[in-house]
Amino acid sequence: MYDVLIIGAGITGTMLAYELSQYQLRIALIEKENDIADGATMANSAIVHTGYDPKDETMKAKMNVEGARRYEKLCRDLGCKYKTVGAFIAACGEEEEAQLDILAGRADRRDIPYRWLSGDEARAEEKNLSDNVTKVLDFYTTAVIYPWEVACACAETAVNNGAKLYLNSPCTGIEKTDGGYIVHTPEQDLLAKTVVNAAGVYADQIAKMVNEDPGFAITPRRGEYYVLDQDADFVNHIIFPVPSEAKGKGVLAVPTVYGNTLIGPNSDYVDDKDDNGTSFDGLAYVRANISKTMKNVPLNRSIRTFSGLRPTSSDPDFIIREDDEAEGFFHIASIESPGLASAPGIAAYVAEELIAKRIPLIKDPEAVMTREAPVVLSELSEEERSELIRKNPLYGRIICRCEQVSEGEIVDCIHRTCGAATVKGVKKRVRPGMGRCQGGFCEPLVLGILSRELGIPMTEVVLDSLKSRILESENRS
Ligand SMILES: Cc1cc2nc3c(=O)[nH]c(=O)nc-3n(C[C@H](O)[C@H](O)[C@H](O)COP(=O)(O)OP(=O)(O)OC[C@H]3O[C@@H](n4cnc5c(N)ncnc54)[C@H](O)[C@@H]3O)c2cc1C
Repeated sequence: MYDVLIIGAGITGTMLAYELSQYQLRIALIEKENDIADGATMANSAIVHTGYDPKDETMKAKMNVEGARRYEKLCRDLGCKYKTVGAFIAACGEEEEAQLDILAGRADRRDIPYRWLSGDEARAEEKNLSDNVTKVLDFYTTAVIYPWEVACACAETAVNNGAKLYLNSPCTGIEKTDGGYIVHTPEQDLLAKTVVNAAGVYADQIAKMVNEDPGFAITPRRGEYYVLDQDADFVNHIIFPVPSEAKGKGVLAVPTVYGNTLIGPNSDYVDDKDDNGTSFDGLAYVRANISKTMKNVPLNRSIRTFSGLRPTSSDPDFIIREDDEAEGFFHIASIESPGLASAPGIAAYVAEELIAKRIPLIKDPEAVMTREAPVVLSELSEEERSELIRKNPLYGRIICRCEQVSEGEIVDCIHRTCGAATVKGVKKRVRPGMGRCQGGFCEPLVLGILSRELGIPMTEVVLDSLKSRILESENRS
């Protein structure tokens, strides 16, 4: 019997598994998809918000501030990227400037550092800031991360500490039993003393498996983006418009950890919990609204569009609590923005305030809470590269020219704990296909490497889900 079974391997579920893996606990993490971080964690703005935005006395505010405080060390411990870029909240005119005062007030109460800039001072640092911007509040400790890298690193470390990860294991039903729950999946039934529902947009469906009226429903709210090429040279800081009750954080320009720029998102409710396509209207909204804060937007340098689904509920706050009807069953639901930034805070809260009331948390002296960072060849010096290639010539064979990713890095990511088993899994972990050609040149090579390293025919290599085969059959040998 597991002590804790977590449903959903997004940033919330994997971070909780990581946090719990420092204790003497039997942990299971089940995920319906074929890889970690395939939900909202794969498609968002990737910002570690410092915590100035959520209203006072909310779980969002508490979790965001705590999460942001933990992130930098966490990323260092897990060998993940964490880039402090700063966030400009750009006001146009007196009415919006007054809104900045409210944010500054919240920041003061939460000990979050900031500085004020006039429109011209801000434009001296950001040449493409709109001439309409009159005042800027700079939250200069705001950072960006690679969210799926953090989720993969958390899962890897938790599994190295003894947690069990079940991929392709959708929870299809839950039964109460003596001392816990039976969680049904198509392949097996798993027994657990406590269960955590971290199923993102599906959290309401999971909740209904133990309580007919869990008190919340989740509606997906889609956000669409453009991704600009690395050499677009557009922004240095994250640029936000002044947030509003109706439109949330608005359309942003975000420099990513690898130097691309994201432009987006919009905010549209959709009916389908899997509808993460992009739309003509959604992208038109993004184009129209980015010009509020930015000029010279180089959308002709766009290399991709994508969208993500926010798990929005009727409750504007995060829902992090034990179920009213089901003892030992905990919800982490309605985790829309700033869910990513809050994840380390949420994990600590759920472990220490919720699970600890049911199961004693005793430290495991053997648990290792750090992870060795993967090799990123493109970041090494000439000498370091030569040394690496001398030891393993696979690092000398560049597979992805756009991102300068070597065969050695791809092979490493396949063989790590919780390693890549799909073309998208390799892209997520070491970036072939993230660049200008979007995999046009490297994807067949990645497919061949996966086939060789996993010992499976090329026709069995999938893009992402088990159904997404790329090659139908061999037609010549
Ligand atoms: C457009 C957009 C922009 C955002 N920008 C930011 C930002 O800049 N900063 C920030 O802090 N936050 C941001 N967020 C919010 C952030 O992305 C989410 O809060 C966070 O990713 C939620 O993580 P999660 O693990 O709770 O959910 P998910 O990542 O969705 O994970 C849930 C997992 O549960 C699995 N699952 C579902 N049903 C089942 C089942 N029956 N059985 C097993 N597994 C199941 C899913 O497959 C999925 O992997 C943004 C979100 C969006 C969509």
